[in-house]
Amino acid sequence: MLYIVATPIGNLEDLSPRGVKVLSSVDVVAAEDTRHSGRLLEHLGISKPMIALHDHNERDRVQSILGQLQDGADVALVSDAGTPLISDPGYVLVREARAAGVQVSPVPGPCALVAALSAAGLPTDRFLFVGFLPAKRAGRRAVLDELRTEVATLVFYESPHRILHTVSDIAEVMGVQREVVLGREITKTFETFYSGEAADVHAALTEDPHGSRGEFVVMVKGAKKAEVGLMSGELDVDRLLGLLMAELP
Ligand code: SAM
Repeated sequence: MLYIVATPIGNLEDLSPRGVKVLSSVDVVAAEDTRHSGRLLEHLGISKPMIALHDHNERDRVQSILGQLQDGADVALVSDAGTPLISDPGYVLVREARAAGVQVSPVPGPCALVAALSAAGLPTDRFLFVGFLPAKRAGRRAVLDELRTEVATLVFYESPHRILHTVSDIAEVMGVQREVVLGREITKTFETFYSGEAADVHAALTEDPHGSRGEFVVMVKGAKKAEVGLMSGELDVDRLLGLLMAELP
């Protein structure tokens, strides 16, 4: 059996009792970074053979892990933080394991995007997780432009060095008034949520001396349905008239 085990995104107490039980019982732990996850296992008093499975070796390692699974071994996959496969390695392994008829079972737990959304106060009935935006400005702005008319709440992961650039690109491409919420250092000592119009969130982050430190989830309220046609250039005169009429006293 291949277990996909979620691990904490900051607070060690967030590892579930079942996660601990599974990590204690498996034959092998496959980890994105064996030193990093080794420290977690040590903290739990668990000693297991570990195998590294990261973005650069996943394809090569999958066959040997599959071999062990097919020989009847139980394997747990963990990433450095949160849920494996969510902007983390594991996709090739899970896909191949399923194709080979191996049972794959999740041990759910922390995930930065879900934790952030659950506390942000933005609509969660429909959301689009985009992962990391391109590192270069032109690429980042192109993706934001593509998403400008998306009505679902948008969720991104972002690194501390790019957070200010990303928020300023959101303001420029999607409008200074677009509602933005940033979840920083979630579950950690300096957990902070910044929320408001894009321009205000940018200002708050710039003013906070710790503003660009730590890990971030960026959430953007979706485009208003009534505005979508107008923003995408499909000018619908009846709809425009309706919008204008609604503004009249
Ligand atoms: N698999 C992880 C998950 O389930 O959330 C995400 C891994 S991804 C490589 C790491 C990114 O997740 C960080 O750059 C940051 O954007 C986000 N992240 C992880 N932990 C976080 C935290 N405690 N607070 C805010 N964002 C976090």
